[in-house]
Amino acid sequence: MKFPTHPSRRRFLSQVTAGAALATRSAVADHHGGGKKLGFALVGLGSLATNQIAPGLLKSKHCKLAGIVTGTPTKEKVWAEKYGIPEKSIYNYENFDSIKDNPDIDVVYIVLPNSMHKEFTIRGAQAGKHVLCEKPMANSAVDCEAMIAACKKANRKLAIGYRCHFEPHHQEIMRLAREKTFGEMKMIEAGFGFRLGNPNQWRLKADLAGGGALMDVGIYALQACRYLTGEEPSLISAIETKTDFEKFKEVDETIVWTMTFPSGVIANCSTTYNFNGVKHCKASCSDGWFELDPAYGYDGITGMTSKGELKLESGDQFAAEMDDFAKCITENKESRVSGEEGLKDLIAVEAIYKSIRTGTPVRLG
Ligand code: NAD
Repeated sequence: MKFPTHPSRRRFLSQVTAGAALATRSAVADHHGGGKKLGFALVGLGSLATNQIAPGLLKSKHCKLAGIVTGTPTKEKVWAEKYGIPEKSIYNYENFDSIKDNPDIDVVYIVLPNSMHKEFTIRGAQAGKHVLCEKPMANSAVDCEAMIAACKKANRKLAIGYRCHFEPHHQEIMRLAREKTFGEMKMIEAGFGFRLGNPNQWRLKADLAGGGALMDVGIYALQACRYLTGEEPSLISAIETKTDFEKFKEVDETIVWTMTFPSGVIANCSTTYNFNGVKHCKASCSDGWFELDPAYGYDGITGMTSKGELKLESGDQFAAEMDDFAKCITENKESRVSGEEGLKDLIAVEAIYKSIRTGTPVRLG
């Protein structure tokens, strides 16, 4: 797998930020006020859409499931009956673009294999819909840039499905980091992995997944380091180990990597598709520490600090994520999990893969 580098990325990000202000001003025209719920169409009806996102929409305050886009005709009737979706709001991948004529759909939520995120985000934006796209945003930083540019050009909002930003334990550790409750942060240890079953799934195919454990779940640890420091890594060093060369012939199995941040914080991270138990995030600071373990599940997140347990109620992360995006649309704000956030992760992901390939640390920025 090849990840092209892009020297003008920083300039691109600053242009996009300036453009976003323009997009935000003109989007006031589509204000969906008065308590109307925004209509979401789910693009891809696999495991996440079926078991988390659709149930999350039922719990949402500001969104409702208004349409589906699927390549599997047998799912159409099942979903239509279960969620009361009219025939006119059911699409396949070929006629998806005609969603532009459907006023019941405000947002398309892309829940397809990673390599398809770019195409369907761009087509969704060109059809005049706001786009919520699952993580990882795309298979390369260049693709992320194309998605951001397309949404900007169409004057549509774009957010990435980084659900942890809407989870109370993660919000609390972000606060502890920001307010330096335990002093200056020194080190982060973060990792997420699991034993991947079925050897025939798209997650093991490089063209569809873009990478292995790192792209799928390592990105949670990477995100955590970035949102705890509020910085971009300046130096990345990574190694990969492989024990099953047949199953993981196209994608990474286990990676450990370190990131140095401009403030001096060092992060020690790991990800795997080969075993369970890697699911933590811990920040060690000058006057104490805080951690989540397990940190990244749909529920059951547990937090501890050097002063005692974090006792917080958890809600539905997907309902909270979609409600936040709906508010961004109706209140004309940029999402805190914007396309630029997704791009910054892919820049770091590419540096991790480059470090593995070259056997040397990669300097960024
Ligand atoms: P899945 O395999 O269960 O579903 C994928 C869907 O895409 C299926 O409906 C399938 O029919 C469709 N599809 C269309 N073209 C396909 C092709 N060429 N090959 C395979 N499937 C194809 O996957 P999932 O677990 O629902 O993941 C979908 C996306 O959601 C991925 O980007 C993944 O990273 C992301 N995800 C996010 C979270 C989260 O917590 N935010 C959790 C799981 C998955």
